[in-house]
Amino acid sequence: MSLKLENIHKFFGHITALKNVNLEVNKGELLVILGTSGSGKSTLLRIISGLEKPDKGRVLINGRDVTYEPPYNRPTSMVFQDLALFPHLNVFENIAFGLKIRKYDRREVEIRVKEVAEMLRINDLLDRSVAKISGGQRQRVALARSLVLHPDILLLDEPLGALDMKLRMDMWVELKKLQRQVANTWVFVTHDQHEAMALADKIAVINTGEIQQLGTKDEVYDSPASLFVASFIGEMNFLEGRVTEVKGDVLKVETPVGEVEATMQRVKGRPETGARVTVGIRPEKIQITKTPNDCINTLSARVSEINFSGVLTTYELELPDGSRIKIQTTSRQMGYRQGDKVYISWSPEDVNVYVTQ
Ligand code: ADP
Ligand code: MG
Repeated sequence: MSLKLENIHKFFGHITALKNVNLEVNKGELLVILGTSGSGKSTLLRIISGLEKPDKGRVLINGRDVTYEPPYNRPTSMVFQDLALFPHLNVFENIAFGLKIRKYDRREVEIRVKEVAEMLRINDLLDRSVAKISGGQRQRVALARSLVLHPDILLLDEPLGALDMKLRMDMWVELKKLQRQVANTWVFVTHDQHEAMALADKIAVINTGEIQQLGTKDEVYDSPASLFVASFIGEMNFLEGRVTEVKGDVLKVETPVGEVEATMQRVKGRPETGARVTVGIRPEKIQITKTPNDCINTLSARVSEINFSGVLTTYELELPDGSRIKIQTTSRQMGYRQGDKVYISWSPEDVNVYVTQ
């Protein structure tokens, strides 16, 4: 285990910034911590790096308890949100800074800086002032400054925040490659679910200081552990209802638009008959047909909007009770028009059920 957090709590006065955080990251894995602003992401990174001490709990790196070790005694390095470059130093000196402090000899510093600068394709900028390079280049310098230390764990606190969308998306691909190449452990913090999905091996979803789910990208997307995760990652259609039957592997829910069946493996908690639940179905898991099919979960609907946006076509459908449901498909021409009466259906295996009461 490269990194293990046990039962971490952190308070700032009456604010609980982190509550009972448990995390495990294997060597060479890229963990993304995903949460909204103020959810505790930076505090968590600062505790891993040693810039902050937890009020309770332990930090283990490579099996060693480092909870009370200062940052310089930990094999970690952090890329900060605002990058925190030294404006009076050039690119080379910025990257070399940590090595010089650690008293590496001049030749070793030169070799390492060149190596990492090449990896990040900034080798022709080494004598430039960091004030005179682009935002994307500055971002690479900040990354190089950390990677040059060969940390066992690289901590990245929303490092792409300042870049425009296109540049960010290019960086996702590049960072993923880079991480595989250097093969150390990365903990990457972001509030952007698309960034999380693009980068992660594993995702930890954090909300108000609590980890709501830790899992592979597939687990978090296909089987969100809570309503919060379900609504935070990807799109989800929600229907409110009441459990009418629990039998073997099948749960039946009465909703205002008809009965919905779900397989028990996707049900969170153990709802009894009569329990209030929210049912979630991903837009791409719903089929749309002209005539009713013999699927278990079939509803009638009317097409209210069709929007083609490149790869995906999104249909917004109106259900008999006036509520709306979203469907996404990669096929462009399905022959439906606004106002058409259609049938929608989905498999009980694609239904997530959350007990709300
Ligand atoms: P995030 O990085 O997810 O936006 P932070 O970890 O920065 O969240 O903050 C989590 C919570 O802790 C917030 O409510 C924030 O205001 C509070 N907080 C963070 N650092 C301090 C501090 N040094 N003093 C007081 N409150 C803090
Ligand atoms: Mg932050």
